[in-house]
Amino acid sequence: MKPQLINGIHHVTAMADDAQKNLDFYTGILGLRMVKKTVNFDAPDVYHFYYGNETGSPGTIMTFFPFAGMAKGRHGKGQMTVTSFSAPAESLDYWLARLKKFNINFTGPHQRFDDEMFISLQDAHGLALELVFNKSDLRPGFTYGQIPLEYSVKGFHGAVLSEDNSDRTAKLLLETMDHKLIAEKGNLKRFSASGVPGDFIDVLNTPEAARGLGGSGTIHHLAFATADDVSQLEIREKLLSKGHQVTEVLDRQYFHSIYFREPGGVLFEVATNPPGFAIDEHPSKLGEALKLPQWYEPMRDKIENALEKVELKPEKFS
Ligand code: ZN
Repeated sequence: MKPQLINGIHHVTAMADDAQKNLDFYTGILGLRMVKKTVNFDAPDVYHFYYGNETGSPGTIMTFFPFAGMAKGRHGKGQMTVTSFSAPAESLDYWLARLKKFNINFTGPHQRFDDEMFISLQDAHGLALELVFNKSDLRPGFTYGQIPLEYSVKGFHGAVLSEDNSDRTAKLLLETMDHKLIAEKGNLKRFSASGVPGDFIDVLNTPEAARGLGGSGTIHHLAFATADDVSQLEIREKLLSKGHQVTEVLDRQYFHSIYFREPGGVLFEVATNPPGFAIDEHPSKLGEALKLPQWYEPMRDKIENALEKVELKPEKFS
């Protein structure tokens, strides 16, 4: 059988306002590791924060462009509207108590499909998140110490896309992007390239919804994982042959990327698994220093001075 070109989710990138609030929520409350602190390569006066498990494995990477004062966006169709994280099944009570303790509003537990238990919450910017309590997620998780490792978030569970016409998105996932339909209920269809937690794409048919608008608290794009540069060029050709408008390959330092819009308007990316976050700092030091691509190094002082000072202090959220 031909190897798959798409293996699952690589990362999710979202918009946020205050940088410190963003750092506190994702490292402090959720307990993810900051695996890279860099800048937006197209606008180096804005940070680019990457969070994930210990190594920042594909399927665990949530990234933000925090920009103070950014106007709030609106959730709606044509967007990825929910980012789901996976936690161990036995951690439900722990997370209910933890969210209460830090005054994070949530609803649930809710149930989806036959036996999926989850709670819905919002991050510090209004981005819709879920914690899904999985019995079968074998990934290691990560802790700074403030959350017991056995209750830690393991990475993504999946993504929810809200669509005006979900059939078009389904066709792209099934026919071009190596996904299979694995569950279906009402107006919700679940697709996956790997079949395991981390890679679920839930497509919601919501023609009656208003269109989403970009801004703080909304997703910018959803990136799918491909094995390497060769498979990336193959999927690029395949997408072009089906009439999608795909960018050239862009060097994002930690992976290589192509971008295109799926038929409902959600921005998709396909990113290579290598080289990863250890390319420019030691695995034990990930996220501690401001890393710049070499073409910005000559401007380091100017760039650092223009950025808001932030502090990594997850232990404050014990
Ligand atoms: Zn991306």
